[in-house]
Amino acid sequence: MELNSASKEQLAQWEQDLAAEYQAIKAKQLNLDLTRGKPSSEQLSLSDAMDGILNGDYKTADGTDTRNYGGLDGIAEIQAIGAEILTAPVENVLAGGNSSLTLMHQAMSVAYFFGLNGADSAWSKESTVKFLCPVPGYDRHFAVCEHLGIEMVTVPMTANGPDMDVVEKLVAEDHAIKGMWCVPKYSNPTGVVYSDETVQRIAALGKVAAANFRVFWDNAYGVHDLSAEPVALASIFDACKAAGTEDSVLQFASTSKITFAGAGVAFMAASSANLAGFKKSLGFMTIGPDKINQLRHAKFFAAPGSLKAHMEKHAAIIKPRFASVLSHLEEAFGNNDLGQWESADGGYFISFDTRPGLAKEVVKLAGEAGVKLTPAGATFPYGNDPQDANIRIAPTVPTVAQVDEAMKVFVTCVKLASVRQALA
Ligand code: PLP
Repeated sequence: MELNSASKEQLAQWEQDLAAEYQAIKAKQLNLDLTRGKPSSEQLSLSDAMDGILNGDYKTADGTDTRNYGGLDGIAEIQAIGAEILTAPVENVLAGGNSSLTLMHQAMSVAYFFGLNGADSAWSKESTVKFLCPVPGYDRHFAVCEHLGIEMVTVPMTANGPDMDVVEKLVAEDHAIKGMWCVPKYSNPTGVVYSDETVQRIAALGKVAAANFRVFWDNAYGVHDLSAEPVALASIFDACKAAGTEDSVLQFASTSKITFAGAGVAFMAASSANLAGFKKSLGFMTIGPDKINQLRHAKFFAAPGSLKAHMEKHAAIIKPRFASVLSHLEEAFGNNDLGQWESADGGYFISFDTRPGLAKEVVKLAGEAGVKLTPAGATFPYGNDPQDANIRIAPTVPTVAQVDEAMKVFVTCVKLASVRQALA
């Protein structure tokens, strides 16, 4: 389907055929959902053996009774797993509660109100506070900024990560910019893995940025590979050490999409100075994390290689769903310009760009035909995609047959909206 060279008659004929196809789909009264970026029940069941794994033994290797208060850093056994996921030294890892989003919100609140490096470093002391947001990105990151009244400045994503020419210029010129959101591996939603050069350039930002600038490095999908030979993400910790900018990056991850999404363990890795600054405030919020859950996780992943083997089981479940999405997109749009997408090798999402001005219409058409899609614009700060092009596809929860059915509808909706736009 080549819209640019098609005659008016050809376009009108396509519109008629697609509209009939669309009506036939509507008549089926489907009820499908591609919005939920969460694990399926089948994936959650992979971790059921954690239940009862402690079998009455609540002590850690160093004799700590996990049932009691205390231990702001988390237990040593789980810090080691956090260090493996975040490729950071274990002494720089803090293990918290069940949510990395909570840790990120706490870290940002501490940086904003109290400062990670003494009271003078608090962002709230300055009249304007800005944050760089690579787009499309994760809506909950943007919501944290919005909650704290931090002004968001968008930066385009490329196939190698954020456009670093733009980032470097902004960060050097405007010291009201206090940080940047990053999902460096299988980025939400574009699936991009930051290149080694991008990692190095991000580590170097601390040399030109404001002294209280902090990159929020949310490595939520660090071990969520689908391919047997995944692309490796360079260690930001090592890159910062080499650049002498250890204080400029805070790293986060969790086991939410490894074990139980509502009952995992969250991690933060940071320089000793940042951890000390953060813990000064954290100590007012809690006496310590849920160490029993931390110990359950540590026991579940005690055997060397068990984390990788576990992630391979997730991959086996997710892969056919990703394959279905990608094959539908390739077949429908592989040889035309009706849409663009990245074929992610991991993570939870596939990001699709329609022709400009059509994302909202496609989401509406699909919704009316019984296929729920994430609202257009959700992947941009303030829900505003200036191109109205990006749609996030989340295929993990439906069955493979449901993904297949939903993608047939999606493709029809994209074609119909595109043809109607060309005719208008
Ligand atoms: N970060 C990213 C990039 C995510 O996509 C998600 C969930 O979708 C989260 C964080 C949430 O993590 P947690 O469950 O640890 O709060």
